[in-house]
Amino acid sequence: MSALPPDLSDDAVIRSLATGAPTTWIRNALAEAALPELGDVMDGAAARFDRFAPWFAATFPETATPPPGIAAAFPEAARSGGFIESPLTPAPAAQECLGDLLGARLSGQLWLKRDDALPVSGSIKARGGFHEVLEFAEAVAADHGLDVADPATYASAEFREIAAEHRIVVGSTGNLGLSIGILGARLGFAASVHMSADARAWKKTMLRDHGVEVIEHTGDFVEAVEAGRASAAADGQAHFVDDEDSVSLFAGYSVAALRLARQLEAAGITVDGDHRLVVYLPCGIGGGPGGVTFGLKRVFGDNVRCVFVEPSQAPAMFLGVRSGRHSDIAVQDIGLTGATAADGLAVARPSRFIGPTIGPLISGFASVPDDVIRAGVGVLHETEGIDVEPSATAGLSIPWRLGAPAPWPNVSTHLVWLTGGAMVPDDERSHYVVEGIGLMDRIAGPASAIFID
Ligand SMILES: *Cc1c(COP(=O)(O)O)cnc(C)c1O
Repeated sequence: MSALPPDLSDDAVIRSLATGAPTTWIRNALAEAALPELGDVMDGAAARFDRFAPWFAATFPETATPPPGIAAAFPEAARSGGFIESPLTPAPAAQECLGDLLGARLSGQLWLKRDDALPVSGSIKARGGFHEVLEFAEAVAADHGLDVADPATYASAEFREIAAEHRIVVGSTGNLGLSIGILGARLGFAASVHMSADARAWKKTMLRDHGVEVIEHTGDFVEAVEAGRASAAADGQAHFVDDEDSVSLFAGYSVAALRLARQLEAAGITVDGDHRLVVYLPCGIGGGPGGVTFGLKRVFGDNVRCVFVEPSQAPAMFLGVRSGRHSDIAVQDIGLTGATAADGLAVARPSRFIGPTIGPLISGFASVPDDVIRAGVGVLHETEGIDVEPSATAGLSIPWRLGAPAPWPNVSTHLVWLTGGAMVPDDERSHYVVEGIGLMDRIAGPASAIFID
């Protein structure tokens, strides 16, 4: 094992992480933490999505009529259309299969949040990314004396002419670039996406087809972000979407909690002290799961527990929170590579913003090997007929990996957040599925080291 920084070498959890072995850390003694003072960002973002619903319905016809599951929970969405939301579905067949493969029975029901099926950009990034683009569009409209609240503004020739003079810039491993690029371009903005080396070729092609400028970098995600930041700073009209630090992205993600509360209610699922909800969130830089966690804690308080799940070679948020160093430590500092097949999760250094503000609200962390992540694609395909990208499955085995007895009493619902997949081209999708089916029996091992404190 490579040398750990001396002050961290006493910590058994970090020693386990540093071996690259799957590691679970349950924070049972976590005091009931106060929510950070962020004002009403969640409600503000929800209202913004509502204002733009008619624009989405007109601009993306596939959003005009919500699927039946969504329409049942949100009658207003059925009326207006243009609602960016994903289904909530039970997964009894996956639960049974995973129980067999992992050799244990889960107490409580397994459910899936299908952000892989979010309209327009097919990943959880549609929440945060769209929100920041919409907020920017409103700011530009306001600056030019246009009617900010009227959705017709954003379809007008006048707005589009103004938007063409403004550039939106982002650095991304892929999915954030897709959501920002696709939406930015549809609103008429110039858009530049700085992509890291691990970004999939099809994501670059798709963006270029939407008229987005794609700049390819040979380095990792942090390098792509830095290049984007520098290019935006040099252009007075540019808006940089900062995945390491953005409150607007965060606010967009948090709206998921308000929506989930309505969906749980429509599905007849109670969340209270006798029926706890545990949510498993794949984590990259931390913005997506951090925003969702903030929202869930606001809505459900102590009755929800959020567990962040990362690849065992790239547990950036886990390491940042455990060490207390947040963005001042990278996974390479403990001898890990930062490389993973889960391209959306290939992040070596966490967000500057999420760990310090949301860290106290996160009830557990887990790291999983790439084979387990890949195998999850096979399990979901075989059992539920759901095809996702590998990153999306990171949380799938974790309900069985919390140790026995379960660390939290009265858990009745385990919700695994599926974070991306709908945009994956058919040939890549079948590659992931074939590979995943071949690896299914690996989802069980190696056993995770479990630490509870
Ligand atoms: C971005 C992403 C995540 C994690 O979100 P972060 O904000 O990077 O933590 C998870 N899954 C998929 C598919 C993603 O694209």
